[in-house]
Amino acid sequence: MMNVSIIGGGVAGTSTALKLAEWVDPKNIILVEKKPHFKKACSGILTYAKDNLIKIPDDVIVSKITKFKIISPSNKILEVNFKRPDVVCEREKLNEHLTNKCSEKGIIVLQPATLQEVRASSILVNNQEIPTTHLVGADGFQSTVAKLTGLNTNKKYFVGAKAIIKKEHDDAIEVYPNYGCFAWAVPHGDGFMEVGTMSYPEQGAVFDKFMKRFDGCKIMDKSGALIPVHNPFVKTYKKHGNIKVYLAGDAAGMVKATTGGSIIQSFIASQCLADSIVFNKNYSWRKKLGLDLALHLITRKFLDRLNEQDWDDLVTFLNNANSKKILETESRDNLKYLLPKLVLKNPRVLKYLFRGVVGSSHTHRIF
Ligand SMILES: Cc1cc2nc3c(=O)[nH]c(=O)nc-3n(C[C@H](O)[C@H](O)[C@H](O)COP(=O)(O)OP(=O)(O)OC[C@H]3O[C@@H](n4cnc5c(N)ncnc54)[C@H](O)[C@@H]3O)c2cc1C
Repeated sequence: MMNVSIIGGGVAGTSTALKLAEWVDPKNIILVEKKPHFKKACSGILTYAKDNLIKIPDDVIVSKITKFKIISPSNKILEVNFKRPDVVCEREKLNEHLTNKCSEKGIIVLQPATLQEVRASSILVNNQEIPTTHLVGADGFQSTVAKLTGLNTNKKYFVGAKAIIKKEHDDAIEVYPNYGCFAWAVPHGDGFMEVGTMSYPEQGAVFDKFMKRFDGCKIMDKSGALIPVHNPFVKTYKKHGNIKVYLAGDAAGMVKATTGGSIIQSFIASQCLADSIVFNKNYSWRKKLGLDLALHLITRKFLDRLNEQDWDDLVTFLNNANSKKILETESRDNLKYLLPKLVLKNPRVLKYLFRGVVGSSHTHRIF
């Protein structure tokens, strides 16, 4: 008999549980989450790529984004309208929705409950032994499952920090490329914005520097979290005693190194994982995500090497109808389509790609 234990009740864990329940008796699926109420520092931005993966209830969506602006160091602006809007989800509500769906389906949700040990044919959760044939580590960066089963190879990370502030907006995502890896200001319902930064640990107080732009705005909430740097060679499956062990989501580093986003990637991986468990196939998430995640990693390397003048130049020469059309229509989740089109229409982008290969980083090296 199959007994699946999923550790971590974030998007990766809940979506894997739901996908599995399409084939496996839900009573044989256990979802274990250590926090009494899910809480995660996350902006909850999803591109339209979500439409083929999940139906998000209206009350989970706080804003719809109709355009984005890249604001260069000298305040030059590249403004692009989205053909299909991004949405901003209330992250805790999205998780509540997914967890409730798990309970409705009959999946056993243990919360709050913490994984303590992985044995040969069982796991120990809150001092209770749970027979397990398949164990899913969807327990985030620094995964306990990975540590207890010897799978962990992912050590590099970005620092993510964000705050909700009281500020009017025009339904646009604003991107500031010259704070750490980048900074953002995103609509978060009427009269509120979420502002945040992603940076390398050694870049210091990037978030505090960015917050100075919003001096005088009331801060409603502040939080932060570590974001794994994707490692294309990370091991995400092994046999531990009689248990088949898999990693998914942040635990497996399935994160876009350009933006730190990974919700859509977690949804996609959950389908591959359920497929692997139910039909006893290889865990082939790399077929679906590997190329794009590698492209995001390489793009991050290029972006890290652009200096302030480069960003001013880039924003200026991408400010043409052809480039904007590509940026408007292609999802950022699919760099394998977006990048070649952008280079074909703007061969000058190659100059920056070349610098990415031979130049030296002004920030940090991730390879
Ligand atoms: C500032 C910031 C902004 C972001 N914005 C976006 C965005 O706009 N769009 C996007 O797509 N992504 C975004 N991300 C990334 C996204 O939030 C995460 O990558 C995504 O939530 C990963 O989901 P996960 O389920 O893999 O892990 P997590 O959400 O980290 O969930 C793991 C869960 O496992 C639980 N757990 C850990 N150990 C144990 C244990 N031993 N026993 C039981 N439970 C355990 C934890 O409590 C946690 O709830 C952002 C990240 C940050 C830091």
